[in-house]
Amino acid sequence: METQYLLNFINNSISAKAFYVYFNDNKDVFRKMLPAEIFDNMINKSVKDIELLRTKIKTWYKDIHKYECECKLWNSNQKIPIIGNNQQNVDNELEILKHETPWLYIAVCKKCKQPWFVAFDTVDDDYYLQKISTLEMNAILINDKYPRHFADNEKVRPDENWFEAFGYKDITDWKLKTNKQ
Ligand SMILES: [Zn+2]
Repeated sequence: METQYLLNFINNSISAKAFYVYFNDNKDVFRKMLPAEIFDNMINKSVKDIELLRTKIKTWYKDIHKYECECKLWNSNQKIPIIGNNQQNVDNELEILKHETPWLYIAVCKKCKQPWFVAFDTVDDDYYLQKISTLEMNAILINDKYPRHFADNEKVRPDENWFEAFGYKDITDWKLKTNKQ
C-alpha cells in the first residue's frame, strides 16, 4: 500500500500535497522504507519542498531496484498526467507497434520489452497505460482485436468531426494515409 502510494507520487499520479498528507499519517512505515536523508527532508517541510523531492525519490527507487527503464515504475493500470518531462519519458520509453486509433496503440518498452496498451487522452492530457502480456499482445497484433479496456473513454477515439477536420473519411482511411498499422 505504501509502496503503491510512493509509486503514484513518483509517477505524478497524485499531487505532492496528497502524498504529504499520506506520508504524515504513515510516518513510521516511511521511516523504515526511505533512506534517512530523504526521510529527514520530508519532515517539517512545505509541500513545495516535497515537490522538489519527487525526482530524488524516483532516482533512489530506480537505483535500489536496479530498474533501467521507466516502465518498471508503472502500475498495471497507470495514469500519467502530461506535466513536466512526463510526455517525453513515456514517448522515449516505448516503441509503438500498432495503432487502433491515433491515440490508442500497442507498444513495447524499448529496454525490457514489456508490452503496454496505451491510451493518450488528448482532451485532459493524460496517458493511460495498461500492462498486457506478450501472449495478449501477439493476439492483438495478429487478430487486430484490441482490449476493451478504454472502450468507455471517448477522448481516445476520434469522432466523425475529427476525421473530417483532418481530411480523413474514417479510421481505415486515416491508417492508410498516415501509413499506420
Ligand atoms: Zn521497461
